[in-house]
Amino acid sequence: MQTEFTHLNLPDSVTSAVRDAGYTDPTLVQKNAIPKILEGLDLLGIAQTGTGKTASYLLPLISILSTKRSRALMPRGLILCPTRELALQISKSFKLYGKNTKLTDLTIIGGTSYKDQERAIARSPDVIIATPGRLLDHCSKGKLLLSQTKSLIIDEGDRMLDMGFIPDIRKILNLLPSNRQIMLFSATMPAELETMARQILINPFKIEIAPQGSTSQEIEQKVHVLEQVSKKDLFIKKSDHLLLTINGDPKLKNSIIFCNRKKDVENLANFLSSRGLENAALHGNLTQILRNKVLDDFSTGKTKHLIASDVASRGLDIPEVSHVFNFDVPINLEDYVHRIGRTGRAGKRGKAITICFDREKPIIEKIEKLIKKKLAKQYFYQKDQLADKVGSSDHLSSKAEEKMVESEEKLKPMSEKPWVQMDNHIPDFLLKPTTYSKN
Ligand code: AMP
Repeated sequence: MQTEFTHLNLPDSVTSAVRDAGYTDPTLVQKNAIPKILEGLDLLGIAQTGTGKTASYLLPLISILSTKRSRALMPRGLILCPTRELALQISKSFKLYGKNTKLTDLTIIGGTSYKDQERAIARSPDVIIATPGRLLDHCSKGKLLLSQTKSLIIDEGDRMLDMGFIPDIRKILNLLPSNRQIMLFSATMPAELETMARQILINPFKIEIAPQGSTSQEIEQKVHVLEQVSKKDLFIKKSDHLLLTINGDPKLKNSIIFCNRKKDVENLANFLSSRGLENAALHGNLTQILRNKVLDDFSTGKTKHLIASDVASRGLDIPEVSHVFNFDVPINLEDYVHRIGRTGRAGKRGKAITICFDREKPIIEKIEKLIKKKLAKQYFYQKDQLADKVGSSDHLSSKAEEKMVESEEKLKPMSEKPWVQMDNHIPDFLLKPTTYSKN
């Protein structure tokens, strides 16, 4: 069967695996990145999870490594990513797309035994998928040499930056040969990452799938503004509202609910369970085994609601999430983009609801600036309070005096950029003639 993948110059072993995965056509990032990576160019991909970015680098990587002969007993490809979950997910995709080749991969992440990892390194995997810290541990003990690793992929660059991995990445770069090819992927391009990109990429091909900080048009985004309550009642007010919203939406199939703090992840999970809503909590304090189980149960539909912290959920590819809730407005604005990117994936519709109190509206405005989009707001106020807020009583139900009522604020759309943009939002440094140097 001929598909658009057939024209991308990938070997049959790879196109047949892609076909078996059920993909008919490459996504935009794949269409553009694959030929350039196969040509050997460095690449800067501004694309968030959900765009098909993993296959956009794995397919050419597998093609390059499976068609070139390996003389070394050392890894030839390295994929760096910020979290263990993402590493495991990339490894799953590697096995899926590379199933018709003899290539092997090894995941090197924290939370698992050093000894087992050392034994696996000794079996000379072709590709290593790793979080930077644990990888460096093995390198500094002399257990792992990267002198033949000519393909480096840095996935979720902005997350790496947030998690303080940039110095580790620089150390790893010093261990690679100078004739390496680097592909850097990131959903956003903060200044510090841009500086590193400028230093490490040589004449990179640049792809931008979503303008910085923008969000998929497939996601219907709403803000639920609640009436302010005293500090001690904030949590319960939001929890009650969340429960009502979940129970009141017949289209809700499953959801990820984000909290800013681990403690609130636990508290909310307990609260929802106590009200009969089955759920699971995902945060950084869980053991790796438990985190994997929670994710598996959610992915297979065994658990319908996942209460998560940001770090634990980054970059996760969980298919078909119908709803994302921001139980807390994210502290780091860019997390908004990452959080809601869990839904509306691969062309499917999704809904993202941010719950906030009136006094948090300035933060919502900052988010709107970042995503260049005005968010629809619904007010959940007592009637008399509501009239003040929206400046009109038209929306109010006559019987609603004592009841909570909601009102939708009329939207004033801001100039919105289309979701998919190619090469017309290039960071300045890539347009200016710049001297690139390998560090
Ligand atoms: P990613 O952006 O890499 O996290 O991928 C998001 C989802 O899209 C994953 O579940 C992939 O399996 C899926 N996917 C990747 N490429 C394609 C494609 N060409 N057609 C359909 N689905 C795809």
